[in-house]
Amino acid sequence: LRSLRPMPAPTAQQVLHNVFGYPAFRGRQQEVVEHVAGGGDALVLMPTGGGKSLCYQIPALLRRGVGIVVSPLIALMQDQVDALKQLGVKAAFLNSSLEPADAREVQGRLVRGDLDILYVAPERLLKPNFLATLEQAQDGAGLALFAIDEAHCVSQWGHDFRPEYRELTVLHERFPDVPRIALTATADAPTRREIVERLGLEQAEQFVASFDRPNIRYRVTQKANARRQLLAFLETEHAGDAGIVYCLSRKKVEDTAEWLREQGRDALPYHAGLPAAVREANQRRFLREEGVVMVATVAFGMGIDKPNVRFVAHMDLPKSMEGYYQETGRAGRDGLPADAWMAYGLGDVIAMRQLLDSTDAPEERKRLERHKLDALLGYCESTACRHQTILRYFGEDDHPGHCGQCDNCLQPVDTWDATEAARMALSCVYRTGQRFGVGHVVDVLLGKSTVQVERFQHQQLSTYGIGQALTQSQWSSVFRQLVAGGFLTVDMEAFGGLRLTEAARPVLRGEQAVWLRRDAEQPKVRKTREER
Ligand code: ADP
Ligand code: ZN
Repeated sequence: LRSLRPMPAPTAQQVLHNVFGYPAFRGRQQEVVEHVAGGGDALVLMPTGGGKSLCYQIPALLRRGVGIVVSPLIALMQDQVDALKQLGVKAAFLNSSLEPADAREVQGRLVRGDLDILYVAPERLLKPNFLATLEQAQDGAGLALFAIDEAHCVSQWGHDFRPEYRELTVLHERFPDVPRIALTATADAPTRREIVERLGLEQAEQFVASFDRPNIRYRVTQKANARRQLLAFLETEHAGDAGIVYCLSRKKVEDTAEWLREQGRDALPYHAGLPAAVREANQRRFLREEGVVMVATVAFGMGIDKPNVRFVAHMDLPKSMEGYYQETGRAGRDGLPADAWMAYGLGDVIAMRQLLDSTDAPEERKRLERHKLDALLGYCESTACRHQTILRYFGEDDHPGHCGQCDNCLQPVDTWDATEAARMALSCVYRTGQRFGVGHVVDVLLGKSTVQVERFQHQQLSTYGIGQALTQSQWSSVFRQLVAGGFLTVDMEAFGGLRLTEAARPVLRGEQAVWLRRDAEQPKVRKTREER
C-alpha cells in the first residue's frame, strides 16, 4: 500500500543537496532553475566558473523525461557524463567518438526513457533520424528540456562560430512545448542580441550574472624579455602550480613549452596542429595531474573545468577583451586567489594590427575588429583598476574600483605630462617622411649617427637630437602608447613605417595635452643568444 502513495516531487533545493551534495545555490542559479523547471525559456549569461551546468542539470532532473544538452565540446562530454554517473544520474552522450553499436545503445535508452540527461553534439542532433528519435522519446517518457551550451557559437563574430548552431531553431519548431535554456560566458551586447535572434529566444527570460571575478589578480607587464619575465613570474609566485600560458602562434607554443621544460617545468604544448591523440593526452594530463603548465593557442580551454588553475599567462596579446576575459577566466574557478599575467609591448600592437590587416574580411568586420583591438589596448595602457576597466567594457558600471588586487591598485601608476615628448615624437615621424619604424625615429630623436641616419641625411632635420632628455626605453614607451592610443598607425604595406593619424593633429598644433603612464623600469635581463 505504501508504494501506492505518490512521492512528493523533490524541490530544487533537495536535488541540489541530495544529488549534487552542495549546501546552497550560487548567484542566480536558483532563479534560473525554478524558471526553467516551471517550463520557461531562459538565456543565462554567467562568467566561466559561475556554475552554469546546474542551471540545466537540476531542471532536467526535476521535470518529466530526459534533458537534452547540446554542446560543441566533444572532448568534455565524457567528463561531464562520468561526473553525473558518479552522482547516480542516468547520463550519456552521443557524438562522433562513439562506436555505432554504442550509439545505437544510447538511442535505445533514449527511446525507452532510461536516461535523465543526454549530451549531444550539434551535428548529431540535427540528423533527421535523430530528430525522429527525439519525437519518439517525447511521445514516450517525454523531453524535459533543451539546453544549448556555449550559445555564443551561433555568433559569426566570435572565434568559436559553429554553423550548425544556426540550425538549432529546428528544436523550437518541432518541439514548441519543450523549454529551452541557452547558456554562455560571452557577455557583450552584440553577441547576446545575436543569440536571441538566431535561436529565436525573444520570449526567453534573461539572467545576467555579474562578470566580476574578484579572486583573479590582473597584471599587465611591459615586455622586455618575455620568456625570462614569464619564468621569473612562475618561479617566484607559482612554483609547482598548474596554469595555462597562451601564445599566438603554434610555433611559439612549441618553442615556449620546450624552453619551459628545459627550465625544469612540467610544460606541455597544445594547438590545433598537433595530432588529436597528443592533444587529448596533454589535456588529460593537465586535468588529472598536479602542476602541469599547458602552453597553448586559444584552441585550448573552451569548457575546461579544472578548478585549481592558479595562473593564466599571456605571452602575446589576446584578440579582444572578450577573448582576454574568457582566457583569464579559466584561472581560479575554485574561488581561491589566481593570477592573470600578461606581457605586452609595441611588437604585440604591431603584430595584432598586421593580423587584422592581412585578413580579407569585409571592411565592416575589420572596423569592428579594430575597434575591439583598441579597447584591448586601452585596457593594457589603463592606469585605472583592472577589475573596474574590464567590467565597464562589459557594461557593468558599478564597480567602485580600488580592488586592492590588480597591479594598478597595488602599485598605482604614475602618469606624466608627455605633451612635449608626444609633439617631438609625432613631428619627428612627420619630418622623416612617415615611412620609418620606431627604431629609426628614436635614433633621430636621440641624435645618433647610424648608417640609416647618414644615408637619409637625417642629421639635417630640426628634430635630430632634440629628444636627449629621455632614454631609449622611455622613448619606446612613448611610441607604444602613441600607437596604442591611436595617434600613430603602423603601415604594414611599408614595412612597419609609422604614420600620423587625424588624432595627432591637435597634439602637433599644441591644442591637446597628452598624459602617459610612466612604465616601471624593467630589471636588466641578460638575453641568451637563442632569445634574439
Ligand atoms: P561554468 O559552466 O559556468 O563555467 P560549472 O557549471 O562548470 O561552471 O561550475 C563551476 C564549478 O563550480 C564546478 O566545479 C561546480 O561543481 C561548482 N559549483 C557550481 N554550482 C555550485 C554551488 N551551488 N555550490 C558549490 N559548487 C558549485
Ligand atoms: Zn584594481
